[in-house]
Amino acid sequence: MDIIVVMKSSASDDDVKRVTDRIVELGLVPYPSRSEFRSIIGAIGEKTPQIQQQLEQLPGVEHVTAITEPYKLASRAFHESDTILDIKGIRVGGPHVNIIAGPCAIESRDILFEVGRLVKDAGASILRGGAFKPRTSPYSFQGLGLEGLKILKDAGEELNMPTITEVTDPRDVETVWQYADIFQVGARNMYNFNLLMEVGKSDKPVFIKRGLAASIAELLMSAEYVLSQGNHRVILCERGIRTFAEEVRFTLDVSAVPVLQERSHLPVFVDPSHAAGKRDLVPSLALAGIAAGAHGAIVEVHSCPERALCDGPQAVLPDNFRRLMEQIKLLSELVGHRLTLWGREDVCLQRPAVGG
Ligand code: PEP
Ligand code: MN
Repeated sequence: MDIIVVMKSSASDDDVKRVTDRIVELGLVPYPSRSEFRSIIGAIGEKTPQIQQQLEQLPGVEHVTAITEPYKLASRAFHESDTILDIKGIRVGGPHVNIIAGPCAIESRDILFEVGRLVKDAGASILRGGAFKPRTSPYSFQGLGLEGLKILKDAGEELNMPTITEVTDPRDVETVWQYADIFQVGARNMYNFNLLMEVGKSDKPVFIKRGLAASIAELLMSAEYVLSQGNHRVILCERGIRTFAEEVRFTLDVSAVPVLQERSHLPVFVDPSHAAGKRDLVPSLALAGIAAGAHGAIVEVHSCPERALCDGPQAVLPDNFRRLMEQIKLLSELVGHRLTLWGREDVCLQRPAVGG
């Protein structure tokens, strides 16, 4: 059983410290957090009714409540307002919509730079590219590994875009940390608790994709693994689940977006590409996610998908990606969100001169 102590908005730093010290004395682990208006202190560990009563009497405490969900730090009860991450100056979550785009895998320097340039021109704010690919077949292209990471870092620097790449093995976390700005934990690794704990010890954001047959609560528990290690920078991603529908690779669970947002303060993205499996369906699913209130989408784009080494059939073509970005901009405004374009908000789709 775990509790949260909500402090009065007038509580002083000393009041907060007194409560935190008392929580430690009581044998619980404190997790302080500050919203715009007040401090909240989570306390995890065995709790008795007396503990709740004792904490309630300390100065500056407004109330003490129990968190009944199995996920604590990920829950809305712990942090009532949306978490907004700052990733190299780009704000993710809250009212901000961001599009992550790029090829499925980093195939070569030329292709990553070419695709990177075109997604940046279309307004994407974060560059994706896999260096370690978790493939269903051991005979399929497994990614360029370290060489791919180096290319990704160079492309991110050249294009002035934060980068995201998948890490599949806890032993690679340190290396990936050196080259990318966001760790991606893939659907197949959502239950890899050692990996989640390892990225949880780092200070870079972690983008966790929902497992192929994982419940919402299980996805939030995976986020909890990362948060419990001290890394509070987590993004959740609905990427389609296994159903009986045969027309698509996976079924994008659009309802997961509002459900996750109701239960958690963490940013929620959708991945229309891996859900659809076919490029023609990707724009509709991306728009469905944004309409449902998602904080962004991760979209696979390729300039020559018939030559792609991974996921070519679902890669959106450059012109269609540009059109999709225009639609996402309009739709974001309709639902009260703002699309970040080229790392900035409130700019129109007429891109300023290159370098601007
Ligand atoms: C990917 O993003 O390239 C990927 C493999 O996604 P997922 O883990 O959702 O299948
Ligand atoms: Mn892919």
